[in-house]
Amino acid sequence: MSPQDYAAAHADRFNTKLFDLVRIPSVSTTPELAGEVKRAGQWLVDEMKRIGFPTAELIATAGHPIVYGEWLTAGADRPTVLIYGHYDVQPADREADGWATDPFEPVVKDGVLYARGSTDDKGPVVAHLNAIESLVNTDGLPVNIKVIFEGEEEVSSLHLGQFVAEYKDRLSADACLISDTSIYSAEQPSIVYALRGLAYMEIHVQGPATDLHSGGFGGTVHNPAQALAEIITKLHNPDGAVSVPGFYDDVRPLGKDERDELAKTPWTQEDWSRATGLTTPWGEPDYSLRERVSARPTLEVNGMLSGFTGTGAKTVLPAKAMAKISCRLVADQEPRDIYEKVKAYVAQITPPTVTSDVRLLHVGDPALTERDSTAMQAAIDAYTQAWGRRPVFMREGGSIPIVSDFQRELGLPVILMGFGLSTDGAHGPDEHFRLDLYHKGTQAIIAFHQAFAERSRT
Ligand SMILES: [Zn+2]
Repeated sequence: MSPQDYAAAHADRFNTKLFDLVRIPSVSTTPELAGEVKRAGQWLVDEMKRIGFPTAELIATAGHPIVYGEWLTAGADRPTVLIYGHYDVQPADREADGWATDPFEPVVKDGVLYARGSTDDKGPVVAHLNAIESLVNTDGLPVNIKVIFEGEEEVSSLHLGQFVAEYKDRLSADACLISDTSIYSAEQPSIVYALRGLAYMEIHVQGPATDLHSGGFGGTVHNPAQALAEIITKLHNPDGAVSVPGFYDDVRPLGKDERDELAKTPWTQEDWSRATGLTTPWGEPDYSLRERVSARPTLEVNGMLSGFTGTGAKTVLPAKAMAKISCRLVADQEPRDIYEKVKAYVAQITPPTVTSDVRLLHVGDPALTERDSTAMQAAIDAYTQAWGRRPVFMREGGSIPIVSDFQRELGLPVILMGFGLSTDGAHGPDEHFRLDLYHKGTQAIIAFHQAFAERSRT
């Protein structure tokens, strides 16, 4: 029997397993439920041991524990795959959040499982174990496996970075599979191969020593709010490009084949208008809307603060003004380098009548996995086999911090192999997961391990 046939034959039991796990309310943000989070972690450890994992343990952190497992019997000549998922979930309250059914009692309607955690991320987590079980009980594991199931993803992965740094050597692998994202549509699988990074800053402009009366000083003092506005207007060129010198120096240019690939999932102006309520787009005219929000770096004003903003009138000439700005970054830009460039440019364009300061709040590295890497090719094979359709490549405008953590700390190609849909209601009421996608996901993971082993043979 092939592992694929094994998985198909055990589909009902695989459903039951997922139902059991979603019944455990492992809400990581609620202190009273810490015991439930641990119970879900232990459930996974027990399940891994039942399947036959030689190593499966609950590793304590300062917060919720991390489930870690190893199955390294494929041999030193075979590649190793590091799998990541998370078993904690967002809070859910039937009445307060307006769920149609109990969020922690699985309900299947028309082939769709309704439960908190069904798509984010317990479904994909159990799919990984299903795939491993199917391989072990048929052909045997073609690759070595290491597994991390985190219990704190929904609370900003508080202790994961530390864990990864501490276990760096033990976590060494040839590729990392992260199943915690969605695909383009139920019929069209997709692979996100690039995420944007972030450099978040504040621009502070200081004028007079204290707030002044606009009647007594207006017309002689350069108003800091106005000076800040003048600075901000100089951060972009009229064509929408960021004007900070050197800002684009490290941006990987988009090749024709990459642009063709991105054009397969277009963001039409109609869709954009529906989402924004606007009629006229803005931004770099030489790039499509899809490219602008995913493959190009940006600089945004996130907020401004100055003077009197309460009800009524106050004739104040403010002493200072502040703007929060953030840059979304793409490979190979470095957040701290971008901060230095913005800081230097703001210093240069600050009028002599005020002083300015740019402060860095936080950073996130952009991430990009080469589309021609062995792991990526195996992922294409995997989706193509399970869905009967070649996946499209997409870039995402936001960031997933763990991706750059894994990439930076472990130097691994990271494959975002998701199975759910963006419409699954993750984090919201009536979260659900199509069971056909759960089983296709299981099939895709089996195919990935097979293809990765095959393609890694020299
Ligand atoms: Zn998630």
